[in-house]
Amino acid sequence: MGYRHPDRKNYLYEDNYDFYNSETWLEIRTEVLERDGYRCRIPECDITENLQVHHIIPRMYKHLVEFDIDHLDNLITLCNWHHKLAERLVSLSGKIQEHRFL
Ligand SMILES: [Zn+2]
Repeated sequence: MGYRHPDRKNYLYEDNYDFYNSETWLEIRTEVLERDGYRCRIPECDITENLQVHHIIPRMYKHLVEFDIDHLDNLITLCNWHHKLAERLVSLSGKIQEHRFL
């Protein structure tokens, strides 16, 4: 088992811990931030601080898609608040899907 980040209990993050600490991710992340002009991409938000790069289709679904899950087209810059909201929606949709398969 790898080291678990103490500040994040989010399983979506924990499963990808090594990836999110890799040089590759840092490079991709910088490219996305530059493309998005270092602003949250949610219309009328435009926050420029505490930005995070979000996977539109989550990395946990990478085996279900035919494109590169870490491609720039699947990534978007969000502020901390919108990122939390987006992750919560992903987590909720995961729970709904689990329930459907029971
Ligand atoms: Zn925002």
